[in-house]
Amino acid sequence: MNRQDTLNSLKSKSPTVLIVGGGINGVGTFRDLTLQGVDTLLIDRSDFCSGASAASSRMAHGGIRYLENGEFRLVREAVQERNRMIQNAPSLVKPLPTTIPIFKTFSGMLNAPLKFLGWLEKPSERGGLIIKVGLIFYDAFTGKDRTVPRHVFDGRRKAIQKYPLLNHAIRYAATYYDGIILSPERLTIELLIDAEKVGDTARSLNYLSLTGGNAESVTLRDELTGENFEVCPKLIINAAGPWIDATNRILGKSTQYVGPTKGSHLVLNNPKLREAIGDHEFFFENKDGRIVLIFPLFDKVMIGTSDLPINDPDSARCTDEEVEYFIEMVGRVFPGIKVSREQIVFRFSGVRPLAYTKAKNAGQITRDHHIQEDRLGNIPIFSLVGGKWTSFRAFSEQVTDRALEFLNLTRKTNTRSLPIGAGKDAMPIKTDPNYTREEITAIVKREKIVHLDDLLMRRTLLAYLGQLTLALVEELGDWLGDELGWSGQQRKEEEERVIRILADKHGVRL
Ligand SMILES: Cc1cc2nc3c(=O)[nH]c(=O)nc-3n(C[C@H](O)[C@H](O)[C@H](O)COP(=O)(O)OP(=O)(O)OC[C@H]3O[C@@H](n4cnc5c(N)ncnc54)[C@H](O)[C@@H]3O)c2cc1C
Repeated sequence: MNRQDTLNSLKSKSPTVLIVGGGINGVGTFRDLTLQGVDTLLIDRSDFCSGASAASSRMAHGGIRYLENGEFRLVREAVQERNRMIQNAPSLVKPLPTTIPIFKTFSGMLNAPLKFLGWLEKPSERGGLIIKVGLIFYDAFTGKDRTVPRHVFDGRRKAIQKYPLLNHAIRYAATYYDGIILSPERLTIELLIDAEKVGDTARSLNYLSLTGGNAESVTLRDELTGENFEVCPKLIINAAGPWIDATNRILGKSTQYVGPTKGSHLVLNNPKLREAIGDHEFFFENKDGRIVLIFPLFDKVMIGTSDLPINDPDSARCTDEEVEYFIEMVGRVFPGIKVSREQIVFRFSGVRPLAYTKAKNAGQITRDHHIQEDRLGNIPIFSLVGGKWTSFRAFSEQVTDRALEFLNLTRKTNTRSLPIGAGKDAMPIKTDPNYTREEITAIVKREKIVHLDDLLMRRTLLAYLGQLTLALVEELGDWLGDELGWSGQQRKEEEERVIRILADKHGVRL
């Protein structure tokens, strides 16, 4: 169904379940619910995978550092899910060797017990011994199928042999494996397309907002035309990520489920740093105790991230202060490599929808997920709080089971080993900027593009990898305009929109 057909169908037939939010948790739940035969509508007020899900560090990971908080359940689940992502979407999620440069031996041993007793506000630097213990647990969680290899622990001399530009002050370097989500945006769209294969009971629309609701119905607004209309679902799933509480307020419910924190990243064109890290992520504790990363992103390097409380998720931007911090932090691990602002090709910032807590140290807030339930008359609202990209499938399964229970239905199938997109037969992800007209036509036909930025920032890697030029924006804008029947004025507006978003949110001036 095209956009207009879907909109028309909604006016004559309400869905059983309405999912608000087309990030990974909304889309994951959409796939699972529609596979069970439940008539479901997924909406996003913006594009799919444009909120927190587009701002992640791209790690499919168990989160080794959460072991220190005693979160064994979370880590075990996320490691299992990491393995499943690598198995079910092998062209989009690959094993990622992750190296921790270590500067001390015994430090940090008391972090976990002090945290348990509630006496720890800021953990002390983790030394070699505590990291070794963590890695032994982590390997055990990986399980017998060894989707990724076991960790390796090197002394100083061997580590410097392997990575000659590494800071010679290190004592050890530990390498373990996680996964890299090469394109979270593509993975999300593939899941969505998979879901819609079930037929007319799976409907999804981007640029459609939830704007109101009462005990009988909810109001949706088409962001392209401004038209409002009503639907009457039996169940609402609030998957609005950092906007969960704002969405509940739209429905007349005053909640405080999320305590959002902002995280930013830079993408650098720094061939020397890219060569120095090889195919490894470097994951380490900075001087101030923050856990930060240097990450291989195709031919570029991504660095990040921050973890700062924020009130309004729409205001998240990577600030100059963060840029300075990230640039300086590289020097802790690779002191001989110069990083400068001119090497930044893209920056991005997003907001983690963490569970609300009074904890002072943002890094210690749990990344676990849960469902909160409210009611709009007889209609339950399930709010999906917390969670990681990595555990989306398990969270979606939990939400789907709860929805099936409410609808008095039984599960028909599960998603544990279900391939995503073409699975093993998928084409490798495209990283060069030379698209043919046929390729663009194919993307437009398949992938629910509404605006030019959907194509340039989410269906392709052009913006992330710093490959956009004004000429390319104009050329692709023209091709897209031909496909979507845009007037000359519309083409101009779409190009201006892209230029505005790139400058405002991503520090890119074409
Ligand atoms: C900086 C950062 C780094 C991270 N790194 C990692 C990592 O490396 N690995 C990992 O596993 N996890 C990571 N995460 C966590 C992970 O990205 C998030 O937990 C996950 O993406 C949340 O997805 P979501 O679907 O719940 O929310 P979102 O992706 O934010 O989706 C919510 C959607 O709701 C829509 N919406 C809001 N209001 C309305 C409305 N009224 N009507 C319609 N639609 C609406 C929004 O437009 C948005 O698209 C990171 C997060 C951040 C911010």
